[in-house]
Order: sequence, then structure tokens, then C-alpha cells
Amino acid sequence: MNDFTNLLRANIRSLIPYSSARDEYSGEQAVLLDANENPYGNLNRYPDPLQKKLKRRISEIKNVPPEQIFIGNGSDEAIDLLYRIFCNPGKDRALIFTPTYGMYEVCARINDIDIVTIPLDADFDIPDETCDLITNIENLKLIIICTPNNPTGNSLSHKKIESVLGQFKGIVAIDEAYSDFSDQKSFTELLPAHPNLVILQTFSKAWGLAAARVGMAFGCIEMIQVFNKVKYPYNVSQLNQQAALDALDKITREQTSVRDIIEQRKKLAKELTAIKHVMKIYPSDANFLLVKVSDANAIYNHLVKEGIIVRNRTSVVIDCLRITIGTPEENDKLINALKKLKNV
Ligand SMILES: *Cc1c(COP(=O)(O)O)cnc(C)c1O
Repeated sequence: MNDFTNLLRANIRSLIPYSSARDEYSGEQAVLLDANENPYGNLNRYPDPLQKKLKRRISEIKNVPPEQIFIGNGSDEAIDLLYRIFCNPGKDRALIFTPTYGMYEVCARINDIDIVTIPLDADFDIPDETCDLITNIENLKLIIICTPNNPTGNSLSHKKIESVLGQFKGIVAIDEAYSDFSDQKSFTELLPAHPNLVILQTFSKAWGLAAARVGMAFGCIEMIQVFNKVKYPYNVSQLNQQAALDALDKITREQTSVRDIIEQRKKLAKELTAIKHVMKIYPSDANFLLVKVSDANAIYNHLVKEGIIVRNRTSVVIDCLRITIGTPEENDKLINALKKLKNV
């Protein structure tokens, strides 16, 4: 076990957080004259800064104690916090495996953190020499691993991630935004053994709440305390907390659209195989397919003309489109539009 607190930026370690009115009194049955709120209206009160009700519900589903859960304005907030908490601008570095989610790098640049990239291997997995490479990177504070990975769609090897975790003494963040679409076990069960581990999940994909902006981070108690200390006091609005609670009330995992989406993923992959311009469909553990085509730019433009927008990823994986699994009708429209393609 290593003590992650020596990894904190000095200004964060010594920070005395803002204490909000709702921190100091959070009961319900009271005359509230403490927060300069307007006494009239429906949304007149500040929301619970620690989202306790929502955390209790998430705790039941994810099997992680509420004190080990952070909730943010999307998981993008948690990514930003990782840099702000652990990485000294202009000095520290973060490592990512490319191609991967673009926000890791953008967020690093905004925070003036140098990004080191290790390209994924031919199977889009963590390369064997990774552990040796890591030891030689100076001022490396943070490693971000996305599994299942965006935009490649595959899960990275559990064993290889564990060996990175076993070796690296800085912070390891595992982004599991798509884990509900995969049979792979969540890394949350490794939290007790690794105080330097942070797991990111989100309501944006499997739970269908991208508009509500609710993301989660799981970590040891001390880690989550630091997240809470650095975040904006009221970082998740009452409306968004309620939207997440409603989603959790209405649907258990069994009843979410996850199963339908996985079914559609299989069907779409099969239908795409029959399209002349499709060269390869990569295996997916996510709600999208990475598809290699004869000419990504031409096919992307053709689809736009047909009113169908996919993600052109040719700049990161040559001639590849990332196609989100839609409704059965939307997927049919995509297939029909691709069948219309002549000789690009
Ligand atoms: C979509 C996605 C997210 C979700 O971000 P939110 O801010 O929670 O909407 C996180 N990580 C990856 C890799 C994603 O693709």
C-alpha cells in the first residue's frame, strides 16, 4: 500500500475548503435563513453539495460505500479534478494510451500538464513493454486507462492493467464509461487494495442521461474527501441529481436499454460485414463499433448527405468511422444509406 496523500499538490494538501451553508446544516425540517436563498419558489434552495441520497442509491448498485463515491458534472469534471489535485502545472506529466478519449489530453493542456502517449499495440491493447517505459518517465503523476476504450471499443487486458497498478506509485485512473456494455468485471473490486486507484463511470451512456451531466468517480475515502474539497460546492444541480435518482428508480440494470443495445450491436456488425466498402469491424465491448472502410472521408461525407452523422476517426485510426448503436430504425437507415454507395 502506498499513501497517496504525498502525491497531492502542496496547495491542495493545505487547502481549507469553502464551507457552504448547506454543509453546515443539511437537515430538512427547519426554517432556513442561512444561505441567502429566496424563500419562494420550487428551485429556490441550494442542492445537497454531497448528493447523499443519490450516493446511497449508487452505492447499492455499484457495491461501493457512499463515502467512496464522488459525483460530478459529468465524468469530465472528475478528469479535470484529477489534474488539478495531483498534477503541478508546467512540471508533472500524465500518461495515456492512444488512440483514446480526446478529453484526457485537452484537459491536460488546459491545466498545463505534459501528456506522454504510449500507442496501443496491434490489438489495441496495452503494449508489453509498458511497465519498463513507465519507470523511465520523469515526473509522471497520473496514468489514465480507458476500458472499454473509446474509440477502439475493446476492453484492455485486465492482467496488464493490474500489472500497471501493481507497479506504478502515482495515481491510476480507469475510465469505465462503457463498462455496462461489457462482460468484463469492474475494477471497483480492486479499490480496497489500491488507495491510488480512481475509477470513473458515468450516467451518460448505459443510463441514457447524457443531457443531465452526471458522472461518478470511485476511490478510497481519503481520495474522495479531496475530490469533495476541490470541486465547486454545488457542482451537481438539484434537477440533475433528481434525474439520476429517477433513472435509478425506474430501471434496474436488467431493464435498461443496455441489452437491446448489445443485441443491436451484434445485428449491426453482421449487416455491416455485407457492405462492400466495409473492410473490418473491430470487436466492441461498448455502445459503438469502430469500422474500417475503404475511404473514411468519402463515406463520412456520403452519410452526412443522407442525413446520418457518424464520427470520422480517420485522423486517429486510419479510415475508421466510429458508429454509435442507435435504435433499430436508425441502424436500418445507416445500412440502407451504405448500400446506396457506389464506387468511392
Ligand atoms: C462518453 C465518455 C465519457 C462520459 O463523459 P461524461 O462527461 O460523463 O458525459 C467519459 N469517458 C469516455 C471515454 C467517454 O467516451
